[in-house]
Amino acid sequence: MLHRTIRVETRTREQLVDVTRRVAEAVRETGARDGVVILFVPHTTAAVTINENADPDVQADILAWLRKLVPADPSFRHAEGNSDGHIKSTIVGVSLQVPLVEGRLLLGQWQGVYFCEFDGPRVRRLEVVVS
Ligand code: ZN
Repeated sequence: MLHRTIRVETRTREQLVDVTRRVAEAVRETGARDGVVILFVPHTTAAVTINENADPDVQADILAWLRKLVPADPSFRHAEGNSDGHIKSTIVGVSLQVPLVEGRLLLGQWQGVYFCEFDGPRVRRLEVVVS
């Protein structure tokens, strides 16, 4: 089966969780060697992105910038109070593709896969499908 689910437990309202190793492990478990790895987040206040894995300040800057771009504005109509999380999810996006060649994800040296939490803490899912 070319599908795996990764369970992600987030600890704060907004958090970027490095899931690179877990994605690579999930892909290895499928037995697939070549194809396209599709990462999909089945949530409306979370997202997935690829960015620098060397300096953790990059992740902090991304979250700070998104917070500035989409403040928790009291004029939002959605009664749950998490409209900023919904908007950030749409901006960052809920799916990604990564090439898989000879069993290896073709990520760059400084690239990591990040699960993006915008309304935590929660238990989340990241779906991994090899196509
Ligand atoms: Zn909501």
